[in-house]
Amino acid sequence: MPRLAAALLCACTALPLSSFAQDAQRTEVASAATALQAKVVDWRRDIHQHPELGNRETRTAAKVAEHLRSLGLEPETGIAHTGVTAVLKGGRPGPRIALRADMDALPVTEQTGLPFASTATAEYRGQTTGVMHACGHDAHTAILMGVAEALVAMRDELPGEVLFVFQPAEEGPPEGEDGGASMMLDAGIFRGFEPEAVFGLHVFSTLQAGQIGVRGGPLMAASDRFAIDVVGRQTHGSRPWGGIDPIVAAADLVGTAQTIVSRRTNISTLPAVVTFGAINGGIRYNIIPDRVELVGTIRTFDEDVRQAIFADLQNVASHVAAAHGATVEAHVPAETGNPVTFNDPDLTARMLPSLQAVAGAENVVDPGLTMGAEDFAYYAKEVPGLFFFVGATPRGRDPMSAPSNHSPQFDVDESALDLGLRALLQLSLDYLHGSGAG
Ligand SMILES: [Zn+2]
Ligand SMILES: [Zn+2]
Repeated sequence: MPRLAAALLCACTALPLSSFAQDAQRTEVASAATALQAKVVDWRRDIHQHPELGNRETRTAAKVAEHLRSLGLEPETGIAHTGVTAVLKGGRPGPRIALRADMDALPVTEQTGLPFASTATAEYRGQTTGVMHACGHDAHTAILMGVAEALVAMRDELPGEVLFVFQPAEEGPPEGEDGGASMMLDAGIFRGFEPEAVFGLHVFSTLQAGQIGVRGGPLMAASDRFAIDVVGRQTHGSRPWGGIDPIVAAADLVGTAQTIVSRRTNISTLPAVVTFGAINGGIRYNIIPDRVELVGTIRTFDEDVRQAIFADLQNVASHVAAAHGATVEAHVPAETGNPVTFNDPDLTARMLPSLQAVAGAENVVDPGLTMGAEDFAYYAKEVPGLFFFVGATPRGRDPMSAPSNHSPQFDVDESALDLGLRALLQLSLDYLHGSGAG
């Protein structure tokens, strides 16, 4: 984006920095990042070696809070179970922004062979499992700890205020518990502070280290779970006419449901997905069971499409079942997941030069729509948000075949810590100084 165009899009109240001041700021970011590099790597390795599942991030949260206290901030702890926030007040008046990191790990047994690989285990859904930072939230937490330290060092000259948000359970809380971004917001972290904008990042295997992925508008999908029970009537497998076969009805339902996306959803602008993830019914080759359970996920990028697919699937389920003489107990959705992660187009356009300044314009790419979901979406529903991806796959390795996020072999190239820190720091400074053009 040319400088002029970005400046015109700027909705800021403060005057943009002169290019001299901006150059000074870029140098400041570079030297702060260099000074913090070793610390951030150490923090990330330590957090990686001690991963904790959602709503159980006690050690990680204590480490974050201790660090924030050592910087002279006054963190609030125990928010939405283990969340930590702190406010940095700059020495000059200016806007308020929020920066967010997530702290939780996944029930995955690590197979990276790294010297600081996790050997942690935990109980998950009644089983003992390995625990691993297989989504890179260790990197996010370490990066934000570094950004906090850099901004505190610039405090006297800093306009405005920054809310640091370290949240639990981005991957979803344990069954029967509440948690994550929506619970942080319910706890009131934006009340009283009311940021103008919120920023966050995610390390991703699908991009090369050195690259940043960003786009205005929808970025990541809304994710909703459905559960449909097809109810028939049990009979002997040799005499199906003696009952109602829910297996044939369920098979028909799965087939017909494919037409929801392929025939009735306008996918010319935004894609959608309906996936059946599990079918359970029957126990033995010659018994027709009473019921078949189907569960799955719906991914969408638009609220109207989301609601239309809910209605369509409900309709298909009940009518296909009826055609077989069966009934359904359908919960569409059974649980609403994260909404669409939507990047405010003006904010994205305004901040693009900041990302280009740290990564090089040729390394800032449009990653396209990502069918995965992210609970940053909740913050970005409250205030204009910008969420971006930082490449995690080492140069020389194909990002398309590298172990992806959530894989037991997922690894973050440590240069991503440096780029992530510089990107978040540059965004923050440029926004606070009322500038977006580089
Ligand atoms: Zn994840
Ligand atoms: Zn994640």
